[in-house]
Formats: sequence, C-alpha cells, structure tokens
Amino acid sequence: MEVFTPLDERLISQKAKIRRISMYQKICLNCGCDFLASHDWKTYCIPCFIKIQKAKESQNLTHQSICIDDEMMLRLIRLCHPDKHKNSEASNKATVFLLSLRKELKGE
Ligand SMILES: [Zn+2]
Repeated sequence: MEVFTPLDERLISQKAKIRRISMYQKICLNCGCDFLASHDWKTYCIPCFIKIQKAKESQNLTHQSICIDDEMMLRLIRLCHPDKHKNSEASNKATVFLLSLRKELKGE
C-alpha cells in the first residue's frame, strides 16, 4: 500500500487540475479509441487525423489530374449509350456514371 505525504497529495491534485484545464478526454470518431486532446473541438486521435489528412491530399491530387472536356464526355456518353448495347445492365450503369460525372465536372 502506498502512503502519500501531504506534499505528494498536493502535487497529485495540482496535476489533476492541470489535466482538467488543458486536456480533454475524447473518443476518436474514426477508430473509437480514447485519447487526450488539447482542445475540446478535436474529434480524431493523432494517427487517424494524419491518415485522414493524407487521404484528403491524395483525393485532391486525383481530382486535379482528371481533365475531360465536355466534348469528350459527350462522346463517351454516346459510345456507352444503352441504345447501342441492347440496353445491357453494364451500359446503363456506365451511362448513369458518366452523366453524374459530367454534372460534377460542370459544377452542377
Ligand atoms: Zn483514431
């Protein structure tokens, strides 16, 4: 059994106070682990935050590297059109995808 001197107790309560003031016990929204955050608004543990930031960066790079002008997009849509592929499931899915991609590229 540990015996605390009054000095120990003072130090412990000081530490507890500092912790309560400066750190927040949080649950990471990504992995669900407990972590201590320096601010209450932080929602991810540090490893998850880094992972998410890297994923965002690589997503941005992918978006920047796609460059299809509208003429090419319309050509692709015409080529994939279900009318030219016996209304196959694949042609329907491809056309729906291309139409939504065209909308996205046009910023609609
Ligand atoms: Zn996490």
